[in-house]
Amino acid sequence: MKTTLRTDITIDAICEGFMYNELEGKGLFGLAGKLTIQPEYQRNYIYADGKRDVAVIDSLLRGYPLGLIYFVKVSDGNYEVLDGQQRITSFGRYVTNRFAVKDENGMEQYFEGISKDKQARILNTKLTIYVCEGEESEIKEWFKTINIAGVPLNAQELRNAIYSGPFVSAAKEEFSNTKNANIQKWAAYVKGSANRQDFLECALDWVSKGNIDNYMSSHRKDTNINELKTYFNSVIDWVSTTFKDVEKEMCGLDWGRLYEEHHKKPYDPNKVSQQVRSLIEDVFITDKKGIYEYILGGSEDTKLLNVRVFSEATKKAVYASQTKEAKAKNLSNCSYCAIGHDSNKSKIWMLKEMDADHVAAWSKGGATDINNCEMLCKAHNRAKGNR
Ligand SMILES: [Zn+2]
Repeated sequence: MKTTLRTDITIDAICEGFMYNELEGKGLFGLAGKLTIQPEYQRNYIYADGKRDVAVIDSLLRGYPLGLIYFVKVSDGNYEVLDGQQRITSFGRYVTNRFAVKDENGMEQYFEGISKDKQARILNTKLTIYVCEGEESEIKEWFKTINIAGVPLNAQELRNAIYSGPFVSAAKEEFSNTKNANIQKWAAYVKGSANRQDFLECALDWVSKGNIDNYMSSHRKDTNINELKTYFNSVIDWVSTTFKDVEKEMCGLDWGRLYEEHHKKPYDPNKVSQQVRSLIEDVFITDKKGIYEYILGGSEDTKLLNVRVFSEATKKAVYASQTKEAKAKNLSNCSYCAIGHDSNKSKIWMLKEMDADHVAAWSKGGATDINNCEMLCKAHNRAKGNR
């Protein structure tokens, strides 16, 4: 890879023909059409928050350096921004009067409203730009390295950069497009935002069974995303059909895995809906997110629900009364040991050697209160729990 340092390019030159797409929130072109500000593998513009974009303009007015900017030379005289797109889009938007910055008197000023010398200070600022030429692969590998600084790309943004091509373009159009009307439905089940590629990452994760990189690499040249889209929609349709009611606990669950494990079994959505309702209202369940997998698995694996345990006070009280009774009868204070025939038959366990057990199982309606609590030695408690 060859890099050339350029310190002669001014903000004025870059802003010549600056184009910005309000709808997509993307800086598009500059340098009289010779610079692509937002190539496909770049993330959307995220500086438009009244802080980071303003900070860029403040730096310029104070004469502070904006930091290194990297271009890739794509052909003679044509460049793509590899790093610096957020800063370039910020000053491009400012110079084209798209946002205002407070002056020293606290007045919001657009570029056209500030003094000529301030305008000139911004426009005449020379940037420090490294122009890179080389194989796509080495440039992208390097891009991965330089982006560790600044606002780091998240994992999926990096993958989009590394596997950029027709497949990523089509996939982003579907899954990273805030104008896609389906997003509202997806957001009930998938956490995150379209801008940060969370829906795309989820769709890829599900279809690839967790091997996103392999999947993106082998589909890189594909011009359609049929499989990705169909699979994602199958999962979403299955979830929304099986569980009629949308609850906040459903968001972010590993629906791809649950779909693989359970989608061939029949469920009665009305019955499922009742089960969900009663489990959500159950005060003993501390992990409401586990409800869905619990129901899909036939309501057996109570570990998924993290059922509330007995309080220390309850355990101590039950231990004391059990132990007193056991000593009087010269039997073990673990009722299972007491009916056995080995040396533990009359063993008095210490409190820390015992665990609390639901006499009537929680899953059969047994409550987590003192009347349904029995202390068992750890071995017997474990044995009972596994049945
Ligand atoms: Zn025992």
